[in-house]
Amino acid sequence: MLSIPAGENGKGDWLKLDLHIHTLDDPKDAVDYSAHQLLERARALGFRVLAITLHDAVFDRQQVFADAAAMGILLIPAAEKSLGSKILMIYDACAHSVGPQFLQSRLIHFMFLAAQSGRAC
Ligand SMILES: [Zn+2]
Repeated sequence: MLSIPAGENGKGDWLKLDLHIHTLDDPKDAVDYSAHQLLERARALGFRVLAITLHDAVFDRQQVFADAAAMGILLIPAAEKSLGSKILMIYDACAHSVGPQFLQSRLIHFMFLAAQSGRAC
C-alpha cells in the first residue's frame, strides 16, 4: 500500500493505492476473498486506486472494473508475471501482456533503453 498526495505541490487530498494485490481469481495463490469483497474493503479503507495482479494472468472481468468505477476506485488492469526466480509487475495489461512474445519484445525494448541510458539492469 502506498499513499501519495493527489493535489499539486503535495497539497490536498492523499491518494491511497495498492498496486499489488490478489483475489480468489488468482491461479496460484490461495486467497479467500473475491474481487467484489476486495472492492468493498478497499472502499471502506479509502483506497482509490487498485491493481489486481494475478499470477501469470490478467484480471479482465469487466463487470468488476465497472463496479470499481461506480465506487470511485480506479482499477488498473495488471498482472504479476513470473520470469524464473524473478517477477515482473505489468500494469495497463491485456491478455497478450503475459504471453512470451509480448514479454520478450518488451524486455528487449527495456534492455535497449537501459543500455541507451548507460545503466545496467
Ligand atoms: Zn503477488
